[in-house]
Amino acid sequence: MLVTRIVVAGAGAIGASIAYHLAVRGARDVVLAERAAVAAGASGRAMGGIRQQFSTAAEVLLARASIRFFEELGPPFFHQVGYLFLASSEAGLAELEERLALQRSLGVPVARVDPSFVPGLATDDVLGAVFCPTDGVGAPAAVTRELVRRAVERGVELREGTAAEDVSGDLVVIACGAASARVAAHWGVELPVRPLVRQLFATTPVAELPDRLPMTIELETGFHFRRRDDRLVVAMADPEPRWSDVERVDASLLPDRLARLARRYPPAADTAVDRAWAGLYDMTPDAHPIIGPVADGVYAACGFSGHGFMQAPAVGAAVAEELLERASSLDLSPYRLARFADGADFPETLIL
Ligand SMILES: Cc1cc2nc3c(=O)[nH]c(=O)nc-3n(C[C@H](O)[C@H](O)[C@H](O)COP(=O)(O)OP(=O)(O)OC[C@H]3O[C@@H](n4cnc5c(N)ncnc54)[C@H](O)[C@@H]3O)c2cc1C
Repeated sequence: MLVTRIVVAGAGAIGASIAYHLAVRGARDVVLAERAAVAAGASGRAMGGIRQQFSTAAEVLLARASIRFFEELGPPFFHQVGYLFLASSEAGLAELEERLALQRSLGVPVARVDPSFVPGLATDDVLGAVFCPTDGVGAPAAVTRELVRRAVERGVELREGTAAEDVSGDLVVIACGAASARVAAHWGVELPVRPLVRQLFATTPVAELPDRLPMTIELETGFHFRRRDDRLVVAMADPEPRWSDVERVDASLLPDRLARLARRYPPAADTAVDRAWAGLYDMTPDAHPIIGPVADGVYAACGFSGHGFMQAPAVGAAVAEELLERASSLDLSPYRLARFADGADFPETLIL
């Protein structure tokens, strides 16, 4: 098939990265169609965590291949402060050790550490910790806008306020996050992508936060926090998953999250919730994305299941290569839609 016009549907981190990399590789006629505005979806609401510490090779490789791009962007888009996982049970420690072996075998510099290197962190209950210094935290909306800026500079046509269904082209790339299944249905394609509500909050300012405070995660509870300017951003999964596309904050959970923060990071004990917001994960049954052709003239890049921001650089480059050069230097075979028909059997379990 000779592709002339490529329509990228959705200007979140994934669509923006695909459009940018298509332009870099010489695609001449690319339309980035965004129903609302750039970064209006999950990319404007994300935590911004960028980690290579996953439980399956498929996810480690996508994140690892993205790190160099974030390093080149640097601050204020990316702060390479590392990711620190804390285990407070023997079972948790064994899990960390198992993942560490996988991650190290794939070249990720994860190591056991004494977590007391983080000033202020309460570690009395911690049995063991692992740290990856090349992980870090980013600014998802700003990175997305930067990718769009670079794409437009190289000739991509950005159409905000435009549904992709209304733009004609030879090939559409569905990168619509939690709306992807609905958008794909327009082309008669069924995608197993479901929206899951997740919420975050930012604290009021916390005095003297360490410059290099890592993203810190309790393995057993999934409770985690990061520094953003002079505040902390805090997250933890709801006790019961909310399978819905209604982006509503459940305020009843916030006192518990503040108490956990005060317990784990006592310097923030007097802080309060300044702003809370909700967004949608686009979940697949195995929490791996769907990347590849799904019908004639239709390609999917969605279902990133809560970790698409950190994977966007590698995904954009790989999709552009596959579309323009028929082959990608990154192996995309683990992410094909067909795996669900075959019975996907390697679920990613480290979903934060
Ligand atoms: C609370 C929260 C925390 C998160 N934390 C992290 C994290 O720490 N690290 C990480 O890597 N990821 C995180 N994620 C996930 C991450 O935000 C996404 O995986 C990532 O931003 C990739 O988004 P996307 O481009 O696929 O989708 P989105 O950013 O949702 O973009 C999809 C776009 O498609 C548009 N659209 C919808 N329908 C149409 C249509 N018909 N035509 C045209 N456009 C359309 C939407 O308006 C939207 O702008 C988090 C997500 C949430 C919600």
